[in-house]
Amino acid sequence: MRLDLSELSGFRGSLLTPYDPEYEGARVLFNTRVRTRPALIARCTDAGDVAAAIRYAREHGLPLSVRGGGHHASGLSLVEGGVVVDVGGMRDVAFDPATATVTVGPGIGWRAIDQVTYAGHSFTGPDGLEYGLAGPGGECPTVSNAGYSLGGGYGPLGRTFGLGCDHILAAEMVDAEGNVLRASETEHPDLFWALRGAGGAGFGVVTSLTYRLNPLPKTVVGGIIAWPYSRAKEVFRAYRDLYANREDDRLALCLLLSTEPYPDGEPVVAMYGMYVGPPAEAEAAFAPVHALGEPLFSSIGETDYLEMMTVMGEEIVYGLQSKWVGGYFSEDGFDEAAFDVLAQRFAQSPSGFSMVRFDLLAGGAIARVPADATAFVHRDALHYVSIIAQWPGDEETGANVAWVDDFAEALRPHLTGEVYQNYADRDLTDWQTAYYGANYPRLQQVKLAYDPQDVFHTPQSIRLP
Ligand SMILES: Cc1cc2nc3c(=O)[nH]c(=O)nc-3n(C[C@H](O)[C@H](O)[C@H](O)COP(=O)(O)OP(=O)(O)OC[C@H]3O[C@@H](n4cnc5c(N)ncnc54)[C@H](O)[C@@H]3O)c2cc1C
Repeated sequence: MRLDLSELSGFRGSLLTPYDPEYEGARVLFNTRVRTRPALIARCTDAGDVAAAIRYAREHGLPLSVRGGGHHASGLSLVEGGVVVDVGGMRDVAFDPATATVTVGPGIGWRAIDQVTYAGHSFTGPDGLEYGLAGPGGECPTVSNAGYSLGGGYGPLGRTFGLGCDHILAAEMVDAEGNVLRASETEHPDLFWALRGAGGAGFGVVTSLTYRLNPLPKTVVGGIIAWPYSRAKEVFRAYRDLYANREDDRLALCLLLSTEPYPDGEPVVAMYGMYVGPPAEAEAAFAPVHALGEPLFSSIGETDYLEMMTVMGEEIVYGLQSKWVGGYFSEDGFDEAAFDVLAQRFAQSPSGFSMVRFDLLAGGAIARVPADATAFVHRDALHYVSIIAQWPGDEETGANVAWVDDFAEALRPHLTGEVYQNYADRDLTDWQTAYYGANYPRLQQVKLAYDPQDVFHTPQSIRLP
């Protein structure tokens, strides 16, 4: 049935239905395995558009979903036959260097924000070095800042300065009635608590976020260093030891199993990331990494943060189907038996596009926030393993899904059972506990207060109590 859009005549953005040539492109997510076909994609320009789209969906009895950058691993930002409230085009940036804060539209990615606050702004630090102000972003340039931070938000600066959600000072949200609410420590504090960790899980549509920013030298040391796969277990050991009882929270290195050249080459084991501080301190921090001996290749050296993150983002391949499975390692879980599973199983991957990443390094500032201070509960674990199966063609789906599921099953004894909500897995049976742990009942109370009719419902949104 063709929708009558005349009631949306005041809508300032674009309204895309399957009759529109732009519809097909607008519906594609990062994970092309998702084939959901919404009835309407409402590309909003401001909170007024968002309120109008919500009202339209409710009046027509249509389910709705919220879409930012379209990177949800399981596709829950789209809804079959419903209305997609798309805020990906809302990308305003208002930077205030005096308070070291930035207020942004939900759709803009971190690289575009860094361009303004880090590359576009300079000051001299007490150490005489030139600094900029960096946001708490991850490496993918097309992930929206809101989707990232509302669910947590791990990036290379996290261990030093905290998660994306820990940087949020205030949020603007349109609720199910179309009201525009402001949430902060002093305004709707219960909602503010929930948005920081569960903000994408069914309270409303966030239309702006204010973040604190971090001083970061214009020159930092970082890059990627890789070794032959035959040395994988040795590198795992060194990586584990790098963070065992480590008080310094400035070395931000992720571990990666991938192929070189990507995606047609041989398996390799790598570390990538940076030292979050002056270059003069970096040499000592990287010493245990360099002590591993001659690498296959290394780009570790002086760079600038934006350049380093941009180069990493350029390695991301679009247009693939995927399945992400993972979990936090238990305290002693990253052990010799886990090393065996990782080394053997990755080598059996049916697709060269697939990878294993320890890409969510925690500890430091992340662990210093109590688990009930925000909705983000995963504060204790240090390492997260993501097994990411990626493949181009439908005929490869069966083998790749079987590979990632079997791999995850073999690693399960080493993991806590908690799962990062931003790497959402639709196959989890008890996602409530896996994503939110002891914070879930409180989230249900906030849901009752702000969306009592469960308008923002998805297969993994917070349920009414
Ligand atoms: C290639 C890739 C790299 C990634 N790298 C990292 C990383 O380094 N660190 C990290 O922590 N995570 C990372 N992620 C995960 C990413 O942070 C999450 O998938 C995030 O939720 C994506 O947000 P999005 O807006 O781009 O996606 P979408 O699919 O548009 O949205 C994701 C979820 O957030 C909700 N949502 C989005 N915007 C809003 C809003 N304004 N108001 C309310 N709800 C909203 C959606 O409804 C949906 O449930 C990565 C993901 C991919 C695919």
